[in-house]
Amino acid sequence: MYSIIYVEESVRDMPQTIEILNRYQNAAIVDCSHYGELFNRRKQNFRTQKKEPTLIIARKENKRILPIPGEYAIDAKHNFYFSHMLNCLYDCRYCFLQGMFRSASHVIFVNYSDFKTDLTSHIENTEDSICFYSGYDCDSLALDPITDFTRNFIPLFKPYQHAFLELRTKSTQIRNLLTMEPLPNIICAFSLSPNEIVGKYEAKTPSLNARLAAISSLRDAGWNIALRFDPIIFVDDFYTVYKQFFHQIYAALGSRSIHSITLGSFRLPKIFHKNMKRLYPDEPLLINGLSLTNGQIAYEENLEKKLISWCENTLKNLDSVTPVYIQRSTV
Ligand code: SF4
Repeated sequence: MYSIIYVEESVRDMPQTIEILNRYQNAAIVDCSHYGELFNRRKQNFRTQKKEPTLIIARKENKRILPIPGEYAIDAKHNFYFSHMLNCLYDCRYCFLQGMFRSASHVIFVNYSDFKTDLTSHIENTEDSICFYSGYDCDSLALDPITDFTRNFIPLFKPYQHAFLELRTKSTQIRNLLTMEPLPNIICAFSLSPNEIVGKYEAKTPSLNARLAAISSLRDAGWNIALRFDPIIFVDDFYTVYKQFFHQIYAALGSRSIHSITLGSFRLPKIFHKNMKRLYPDEPLLINGLSLTNGQIAYEENLEKKLISWCENTLKNLDSVTPVYIQRSTV
């Protein structure tokens, strides 16, 4: 998949690095001193790079665990996110990473032991519930066969009943999870959209049916499943499309319990939206029906409220048990 891999000198001999490089024997390996020299360089074209991203293997030196942005949290008292990766295999047209990062290169931070030390110290610092989100700057599972993220991080949570880890994903890369003991404090949170939206705006992602099949396998194996409907997109024939979509999900998943549902309508921080419009100037999704609302580019406030409340009511009619959380801001 990668024809060029940049490797920070400081991680060149780490086992995780060696394992990744062994998978790509034909790739050109290029040494670099710090990933930021490549990743944060000016005048890069995210759209062009996305077609054939390079891989950068690096060390995350500091600020490994960060407070979650805006209303990303669900119900834990303390909420943080961390990123063992930057960027994503998939190419969702609405993805805010395109507006946030200068480069589409995939960065994998392989100093897992530093992340684990920081996670443990945060967890042991409190007796309150504490949740960590791993899918903010990337998809948590899409590159799991390469990063081995789940096998490295999930066992850390086993002794701590008050600590939770959310894996947020559109991926069907669940092989590692299926070989592991399911833990009650791990939340496998699947981002789902109607088929019409997957086909139009979620390039390279698994189909809705494939994601539902992955969810069923994980549930059968005993893992917690959560559903993430974010972004809700105001497509033509919205109410018919989303009604059929929600019914399809509940028909596929049956009545067994779901950990949580989150709902958020399409929205972007103003600066990210500006950057994304530069990449896709003719993309109707980034133009039609949007305005500056509460500091973000979003649907007009009344429309947004109407869409979210309709989705919430429709879901509650199908499932009166699972808690539904509304999420508003991206960063
Ligand atoms: S799956 Fe998530 S992180 Fe990946 S491109 Fe889509 S929105 Fe972005």
